[in-house]
Amino acid sequence: MIQLFLPLNFLGFVYREIRRALTDLENMLGLLNRQPNIKDNNNATPLKVTHGEIRFTDVSFSYDKQRPILNNLSFHVKAGSKVAIVGTSGAGKSTLARLLYRFYDIDSGEIHIDQQTISQHTLQSLRQAIAIVPQDTVLFNSTIRDNIAYGRPNASAEEIDTAIKLAHLNSFINSLEKGDQTLVGERGLKVSGGEKQRIAIARALLKNAAILIFDEATSALDSHSEQAILSAMREVANQHTSLVIAHRLSTITDADNILVLHDGKLVEQGNHQTLLAAHGEYARMWQRQQTTE
Ligand code: ATP
Repeated sequence: MIQLFLPLNFLGFVYREIRRALTDLENMLGLLNRQPNIKDNNNATPLKVTHGEIRFTDVSFSYDKQRPILNNLSFHVKAGSKVAIVGTSGAGKSTLARLLYRFYDIDSGEIHIDQQTISQHTLQSLRQAIAIVPQDTVLFNSTIRDNIAYGRPNASAEEIDTAIKLAHLNSFINSLEKGDQTLVGERGLKVSGGEKQRIAIARALLKNAAILIFDEATSALDSHSEQAILSAMREVANQHTSLVIAHRLSTITDADNILVLHDGKLVEQGNHQTLLAAHGEYARMWQRQQTTE
C-alpha cells in the first residue's frame, strides 16, 4: 500500500507545483501571450530582503525597440511606506510593476531592492519577496481555504484564519453553508470580483512578503465591496511596503507618496494634499473623477 501511496503522493505534489506555476503566470498582472526569457545570471545569489526599500534609477524600457514605454524613470519607495502609481491608461503603471517582479529586464538604469540590483540575484528569491494582488485573480478549482493557503502551503491553520479575518472575508465565508470548504473556481461557486480580490489579499497576507503590489480592479465594484477591500488593503499596507496601481484616486488619498505617470515619464509626485495644491496633472485627474462620480 505504502509503495503505491508514495508515487501517487509524489505525482500529486508535481501536479500541485505545476498548477501553482501556471496560476502564478496567469495572475501576473494580466500577462499577455508573450513568454519572456528571463533567467538567473550565472553567479546569481539570493536577494536578501529585510526592509523592502525600492529604488528605480533612470529606468528605461520598451517591449519593442521602436516604441519606448518608460523613459529615465527614477523614484524611491521607503521601506514600509504605501506608494500609489497613477496615470492615464497606457502610461506604464503595470509595466513598472512587471519590471520590479523582473518579468522583463530593463534596457537601461537600475532597479534596487534593499540596495541590491535585482537582476544580479535569483528570480526565485526576488519573487519570494513580492506578493501580488492582481486585478483579476485566478481561482483554481478547490475550496476557498485551499485557494488562500496556496499563498504559503506550509502555513498553520491559525495563520490561515488570521489572513481570512484581516482580508475581511469572515462574513462572506460565514454566509456559505460549507464555509471555507466551499468549492470555488470554474466548477464551483462563482464569486464576485470583490470577493476574489479579498481572497487574493488573504493569499498575499499569508505569503508575508516584504513588498506587496496591489493592482486595483479597473471595473467599478459596489461600494460595500470597495470598502471591504480598502480596509483589507490597509491591514496589508500597515505591515509591508506597498505599491498600489490605482485607477480611482479616491482609494489612495492616504498614500505616503503618489507617483503620477504620463507617457512613461514621472511628471509629478507627492501626497494627495501637495499634489492638489500643485494644480498639475494629478489635480486635473482628481477634478475629472470628482465630476464623473
Ligand atoms: P492601464 O491603466 O490601462 O492598465 P497602464 O498604465 O498599466 O495602463 P501598461 O499596461 O503598463 O499601462 O502599458 C504601457 C504601454 O505598453 C501601453 O501602450 C501598452 O499598449 C504597452 N504594452 C503593455 N504590455 C505590452 C506587451 N507585452 N507588448 C507590447 N506592448 C505592451
